[in-house]
Amino acid sequence: MHDFVYQAQAARVIFGVGSLQYLEREIQLLGAERALVLCTPEQQEIAEQVAELLGKRAAGVYPKAVMHVPAETAAAAVSEAQRVGADCAIAVGGGSTTGLGKAIALQSGLPILAIPTTYAGSEMTPIYGITENGLKKTGRDPRVLPRTVIYDANLSLSLPVALSVTSAMNAIAHAAEGLYAQDSNPVMDLMAEEGIRALASAIPLIKATPHDLTARSDALYGAWLCGTVLGNVGMALHHKLCHTLGGSFNLPHAEVHTVILPHAMAFNSAAAPVAMNKISRALGGAPAAQGLYDLAKNNGAPTSLKELGMTLQDVDKAAHIALQNPYWNPRPIAAENADAIKQLFQHAWEGSAPVLV
Ligand code: NAD
Repeated sequence: MHDFVYQAQAARVIFGVGSLQYLEREIQLLGAERALVLCTPEQQEIAEQVAELLGKRAAGVYPKAVMHVPAETAAAAVSEAQRVGADCAIAVGGGSTTGLGKAIALQSGLPILAIPTTYAGSEMTPIYGITENGLKKTGRDPRVLPRTVIYDANLSLSLPVALSVTSAMNAIAHAAEGLYAQDSNPVMDLMAEEGIRALASAIPLIKATPHDLTARSDALYGAWLCGTVLGNVGMALHHKLCHTLGGSFNLPHAEVHTVILPHAMAFNSAAAPVAMNKISRALGGAPAAQGLYDLAKNNGAPTSLKELGMTLQDVDKAAHIALQNPYWNPRPIAAENADAIKQLFQHAWEGSAPVLV
């Protein structure tokens, strides 16, 4: 056993089908009287239902969350919270909506209650991101960690199958990288392996029967575990590459994670054998990189950057950006591995099976 530091992060989790019914109790426990409900324009209907459940404790619905939290959107949301006298915000939705809630918490100190409807896992992390002049700045601050999280699989039933699969792969990516994190600890390792197992077994069931509440609950459970790992230990190559592709080439978040993950695992395979064994065990025995590729492909997820709209010319540019500002990874991101990084991008662009390089 290696030495480690384990810092528990406070968050109250209410898990279960139908657990939205406890919302008013949970708002009361936060000591709040007036909650502003946040959502994307697409999820306004469910946010209205949430506000209705709260009755006089609802301060209104703010349906303006968008991807990557533009600074203007965050500032407008803070003003709206002040205008309506909110003493709490409820984020109903995926990572974009939770991200808006975090921006409000960062700027105003209001407590956040999150009701996740995707598997992105942002609700379990103290990581925030705000985009200004096209650049997404991320940071960590304990104030942005939602105080309470309600996981109710009923709210994830409407998540389209394609997005369910890529969102689940996005969650698996947090756990996979957590398993070889420089600051890993045995508690996060347990959560990571169990999170991958829960999501990998839920994905085919959701694809076959999108309204299967047991599979949806298993996926949310996995998302909780994987999000917790993301919030507790550092990420490496895979997340950096996805950040580059999302930020510099404006590619969709969950889909990019899905495409890159098998190739990032192949790149790190020899340098992190213990993590790869755990991933393999969680996938039911398949080798980590190939097993993740098959999981995505067999369930209809995109496997190439090409089909996400990236051009071949951008592949070199992406590899070049990825090699700037070196960061920790089990296999060093350094000049001697430049060709392997280029190959990784080439394979991901083509959508070919991962190659251990
Ligand atoms: P998202 O929140 O952008 O949602 C994608 C789309 O799906 C939106 O239109 C949304 O309204 C819709 N949607 C969500 N749930 C739905 C449901 N149940 N039914 C129908 N439609 C639904 O996507 P995401 O992948 O959850 O989040 C991505 C964002 O979150 C990125 O900006 C990413 O950087 C961020 N993120 C942050 C962290 C963190 O720790 N800070 C972690 C993971 C992701």
